[in-house]
Amino acid sequence: MRTTARLIKTIKLGIHKEMNPGKRKAILDTQALYNQTIAFYMDFFADHLAIFDEKKGYEKKDGTTGERPWTAQELLTFAEIHTLETKAHPHPMHPLIEILPDARTMPVSLRRAAINHAVGKVKAWYSVHKRWEADGQQGRPPKLGAPNEPITFYADMAQNPDFDLMARNETRHTFIAVKLWSEDRWKFVQMPVAIHDKARLELAASQAEQARIREETATIQAVKAPRGTWSAEERALIQPQAWCAQSFSIYVRKDKRYPDDQRFSIHIPMEKRIETPKKAEIQRAAHPDMPVVTVDLGVNRLAVMGAFINSQLVATKFVHGGELNHHRHQLLSVINNKRQQSGRLQPDVQDNAFLWEKVRNLDENAARQVASQIVGFARLHGAQVIVFEYLRQYRPPKEKMSRSGRKNHKRGYWLRGQIVEWARDLAFREGVLTVERNPAYTSQMCPHCRTLGERKGHRFTCENPDHVYQADADFVGMMNLYKKWTKTFAYPRKNKKADEPKPVTAAAV
Ligand SMILES: [Zn+2]
Repeated sequence: MRTTARLIKTIKLGIHKEMNPGKRKAILDTQALYNQTIAFYMDFFADHLAIFDEKKGYEKKDGTTGERPWTAQELLTFAEIHTLETKAHPHPMHPLIEILPDARTMPVSLRRAAINHAVGKVKAWYSVHKRWEADGQQGRPPKLGAPNEPITFYADMAQNPDFDLMARNETRHTFIAVKLWSEDRWKFVQMPVAIHDKARLELAASQAEQARIREETATIQAVKAPRGTWSAEERALIQPQAWCAQSFSIYVRKDKRYPDDQRFSIHIPMEKRIETPKKAEIQRAAHPDMPVVTVDLGVNRLAVMGAFINSQLVATKFVHGGELNHHRHQLLSVINNKRQQSGRLQPDVQDNAFLWEKVRNLDENAARQVASQIVGFARLHGAQVIVFEYLRQYRPPKEKMSRSGRKNHKRGYWLRGQIVEWARDLAFREGVLTVERNPAYTSQMCPHCRTLGERKGHRFTCENPDHVYQADADFVGMMNLYKKWTKTFAYPRKNKKADEPKPVTAAAV
């Protein structure tokens, strides 16, 4: 059977600093109203906890009956019947508009999102609470916190859900119209956003994919009886096979550089389905010669990559990290000096916050860039698997180093883990797997003659008297990682003498 994996990434678009105050207020008012609505429904469900334990009988496919908890749809309907006035129920038990008159005209999709959020929050709290009671009420009782959710704009709340960006290509500022609670009514408000070129391309591709899905859906529906069941193939056809924009949200973040210290941005989740790749080991068993990329991660040289096709090394790529190291070391020295000048650190006061943020940004950028280069390299050579070394726990350097030098060394090591994490995420979006292999001896064995070599700084020299070979130590590591992948790596023979007595423990069986 075909299984698919759902991938999500987010495109972030900044909303302009110069947005007029009325619009800013509209966003904040809408968010407040939305969260008040969630809070209202949280209270509602907290008053009706029994429904989370209640079971409904249903008929299984084979004709027998079973029991199941309420579905999300049933919980939603239950909440709506008891809180909204309709012709069928003119006097609900807990009318929403009595508490929140402004919610009367709230878009249906937003109100339903509020209910669903409330269900999730109360359900999670309820199960933790039950466990707390079962454990004899130790510690403080779990609290049902207040909601703080960003507003999400569903199809009926965005004027152009596909946002037609192509038509306004020539302007740098694009507007996205969203429905907000503004001056006592719901209306469309134009958000000035900055759309970078990459996002523009991705959103255009998403539009094309959405059009394809609409077409496929219409074609299938045209030949289907109403409510007819869809086959697995038909359902697969209408899944996003390219990145497809979903309902976006507006986030508010604290930022001193913006008016009222608030920065607004639009986050657009992009969804794609890919066929779940087979496990790397299964792929290798089927095609031992399959193209792979192996990566040796280091400190001064951030990454040495090699692409292998049909067991042959066809390309290499080096990413240098000397500059990054140097820059980071400088920043860490400045921090260190400042600390010494200011004496004791005060608890709860972050020292040198700005400089530390700079260091963090430096590392995060580097990790992302290296990861994207690795994945790009793998794609270029058609590799389905990227082999990294398994990163062991950090060990401080043996040689003498200054305080900031040691810190720099440690951060450099930590960065390797970050690179692997980013690469794993990025690669998976392309259907490429990452695996880790034991790095033991990878930088000590000669990749050609299976003899131990000597490493001096960055140079590796083979010590086999019949083999003249010198190479970059990280390059050797990368070559040997390929051997670990194909399981042809030969560990050095232990130089034990044959007549050496066996340890006592081995004899005592
Ligand atoms: Zn050799």
